[in-house]
Amino acid sequence: MTDVPAGWKARPCPICGKPAAYAERPFCSQRCRLLDLGRWVDGSYAVPVVEDDDDDAWETIHDGGTDE
Ligand SMILES: [Zn+2]
Repeated sequence: MTDVPAGWKARPCPICGKPAAYAERPFCSQRCRLLDLGRWVDGSYAVPVVEDDDDDAWETIHDGGTDE
C-alpha cells in the first residue's frame, strides 16, 4: 500500500472520473495518466483558440478541402 497522507482526499480522475489514486494523482491509475499524456501529444487538448497572430493556422484547419 502506498502511504497516503492524512487529509488527502481522492478527487475524481480527470480521465474517467474514478477516485484518484494517491500514487497516480490526479489520475486513478497509470493507464489514465498515459491516456492524458497521449491526449496532449495527440493534440486533443488543443482547443481551437484563435489568437490574433495565428490566422494562418486557423485558415489551414478550416480550408481542409471543403471548397464549394
Ligand atoms: Zn482514471
